Amino acid sequence: MKPSDSPSETLKTSTAPSAIPMPPGSSRTIIKEYDFFKVVQDYLDRAARTVDLQEFVRTILSQPKNELIINFPVRMDSGEVRLFKGYRVQHNNLLGPFKGGMRFHPSVTLDDVKALAAMMTWKCALMRVPFGGGKGGIKFDPHSVSKSELQRITRRFTHALGENIGPEYDIPAPDVGTNSQTMAWMMDTYSNMVGAANKQTVKGVVTGKPVASGGTLGRAKATGQGAVFCIVEWAKEKAFDLEGSTMTVQGFGNVGSHLAVILSRLGVSTIAVGDHSGYLVNPEGFNAHKLQDWVEEHGSIAGYPGGKAITREEFFRTKADIFAPCALENQIGENEAKWLDCKMIVEGANGPTNPAGEKILLERGVDILPDVLANSGGVTVSYYEWVQNKRSESWTEEEVDGKLERAMTRAYREVADFARQNKVDRRTAAYALALSRIEAVYKEREIFP
Ligand code: NAD
Repeated sequence: MKPSDSPSETLKTSTAPSAIPMPPGSSRTIIKEYDFFKVVQDYLDRAARTVDLQEFVRTILSQPKNELIINFPVRMDSGEVRLFKGYRVQHNNLLGPFKGGMRFHPSVTLDDVKALAAMMTWKCALMRVPFGGGKGGIKFDPHSVSKSELQRITRRFTHALGENIGPEYDIPAPDVGTNSQTMAWMMDTYSNMVGAANKQTVKGVVTGKPVASGGTLGRAKATGQGAVFCIVEWAKEKAFDLEGSTMTVQGFGNVGSHLAVILSRLGVSTIAVGDHSGYLVNPEGFNAHKLQDWVEEHGSIAGYPGGKAITREEFFRTKADIFAPCALENQIGENEAKWLDCKMIVEGANGPTNPAGEKILLERGVDILPDVLANSGGVTVSYYEWVQNKRSESWTEEEVDGKLERAMTRAYREVADFARQNKVDRRTAAYALALSRIEAVYKEREIFP
């Protein structure tokens, strides 16, 4: 099987082909072939040429600073002891502490985490958020363990990470398979490791916490909300009327569901959705709120009464104005790029479009709002949460949303202007802007010693 023939069936990277257990409802096997980190390195090189980046800066950014792999034991409910493999990659901390999500998924690999960590470096630089880039995860299926097992896995990993994380050093957040509950367990574990006198000062060790435990209003929806601010700017730029338009969404978790709910208020109708359990269509439009509640209760879109089951190919062929990939990387390859019948793709997920797919889409005149821009609302509001923790403040949702809107709108315009002025695609523009900002600091500070 070639990756570009069917990205959905050839998720992931570098190691030799291996069969990985899939979530219930799926009989597919994940073959590991797609090299996500190499793809991100190629994007870095392309953007570096665009801005004539100094070679020493490109060299430093081509690999992460630190790569940590931890094998840790956890006692399962059955009494059996299972070994888990956890990762934390710290790509760059020139602009501030390492920052990035924790992914719990059976396909997590070191190379994927490296790619995602690098993308966090670009994202924070693009958004002018004073953080660097990091990412982590544990290779397992969180749906296959009990809640108490999940808690023990999370706490044991946090403990094993020890001083490799910290509110001024490396700050995890939710990603695929993790949520505010995971962050509450991580924060609690960390705060119990620093001694009673320091407990109150380390809330900022993670972001995306529940609001009562020091999280911020507006964080749960922030990534979807940020993508919506980008879509609104795109619509203005193209004189496109969002009211009465249609969208298809792949991945109905944190990012995809909030995106659909918020866009429904602007008159955008979600007519097809998909997740790890399958795909559904409803030409009349789904009730995004109800579908979000369903997924919250049942763990997936499977069994939702308001839609008809379709195949993955039928989903990608469904005509809509906007396509929002909000699941995993490497979902849009050559075939999907040919099947898609849309005006614009907003990359809620990280790396959903592979280079072969992107080439076809750009040739076909489909606009792509790249991940580094489109899903940066999450890390931006994470920064607001971290600032509130430092100052012992609680901002209103209006304050958070207002700041996010200004940040997203500015970044959108900068990317669009750069792309137009330099005749490059928007992904290259977003990378180029980020790299220039990092380069400016390296030029001033130079290399130690
Ligand atoms: P999530 O776990 O809440 O949701 C993931 C969704 O993807 C689920 O609906 C799941 O069923 C679906 N999915 C998983 N495997 C799939 C498959 N093989 N085919 C189709 N669908 C599949 O995760 P999330 O936080 O919403 O993250 C989704 C994407 O957005 C990821 O790429 C993540 O890195 C990116 N992202 C998330 C945030 C954030 O704040 N959570 C911020 C920036 C980027």
